[in-house]
Amino acid sequence: GEIREILNKYRDKPLPEDWLPYDPLCENCGRISTTRAYGWSGDYVKYVCEGCDYVGGCGHEGKADYTKGEGKLTWRVEWPARWKLLGVTCEPFGKDHAVRGGSYETGKEIVEKIFGGKAPYPIPYEWVSLSGKRMSSSKGVVFTLSQWLSIAEPELLRYFIFRSKAMKSKSFDPGLPLLDLYDEYDRVEELYFSKAEEGKRERQLSRIYELSQVERIPTTKPQRVPFRFAAVLSQVVGGREERGLEIMQRKGFLVQPTEEDIQRALGRLRRARRWVEEYAPDWMRFKVLEVLPEEVKGRLTEGQRKGLSRLASDLREREYDPVALHNRVYEVAKEVGADPPELFKAIYLVFIGREEGPRVGNFLSAMEREFVISRLEEASRI
Ligand SMILES: [Zn+2]
Repeated sequence: GEIREILNKYRDKPLPEDWLPYDPLCENCGRISTTRAYGWSGDYVKYVCEGCDYVGGCGHEGKADYTKGEGKLTWRVEWPARWKLLGVTCEPFGKDHAVRGGSYETGKEIVEKIFGGKAPYPIPYEWVSLSGKRMSSSKGVVFTLSQWLSIAEPELLRYFIFRSKAMKSKSFDPGLPLLDLYDEYDRVEELYFSKAEEGKRERQLSRIYELSQVERIPTTKPQRVPFRFAAVLSQVVGGREERGLEIMQRKGFLVQPTEEDIQRALGRLRRARRWVEEYAPDWMRFKVLEVLPEEVKGRLTEGQRKGLSRLASDLREREYDPVALHNRVYEVAKEVGADPPELFKAIYLVFIGREEGPRVGNFLSAMEREFVISRLEEASRI
């Protein structure tokens, strides 16, 4: 009764006389949002499963034993009960709970008057949207922690939350924008360990980096394989992780790595593989052609063949890192008098049989060097 009175102060339409602060679990259909409690005796709460605004009920009438957890307290009462029970002193929550008459305000009154406790210090935050849509568990627009961990490191999630102020809306997209998030995190890490001149922004970023760590803050800079590269590499090596490690070392991403560095790199490789399977756009997915089809050879122009040939001899002479190789492809195109996009197309064609793919520097670097050279040479011969 007292709780009902508190809640009614904030409601246009008062709660009914028989209202109870309890949501029983329907023993017939197993749903909780569809039941309405209307009375109780002893350890039992009587209910009817009648549905709510977004889903119908099964019509079952029954009783739930609240000492056995056959239901839960209504949200607006459960929250203050938890504050009291767990001794919560500080509570971040979505801004919708912070409005006048929202569950923080009613919770504060309930915890003080009913449970004899104190409301925690409130930290309202903005919503997080998922690929442009508002997250909503009832509408199925959700992204779970285990989904996150399957494609990104826990530090990245903390970084994602801490990189902007709590009252700024955040938008998460597990597709291509995830690659930018990875890049950004790696850059901030780089900055944290560089001994560069520090301004206000640098100090802020360093603090964000520290807060993003799940375990102790590393004392030396972890060696990182860029996720973009890992996404390409994972498609070349598949489950052959040893080969993946070899290529990462050859490309200079791992230099005399510690066991921890190796585990981190393998972790990224596995996550990248899952990301490609589930979230990568089609143009980033590929399968390397085992043999060069005659049909592809026939499509190459003289300029394209010259470019491929020049590139092959360059690769024989020295090892390029992915960025340098990307730039080199541009130069080669100009040197042989071809349009750079034409040379890019030729490269994708001879390796994957279509005209587009992941960034060319990453793409060529992820494959075995000897294989790359011989394929380029083969394609450049008439
Ligand atoms: Zn039911």
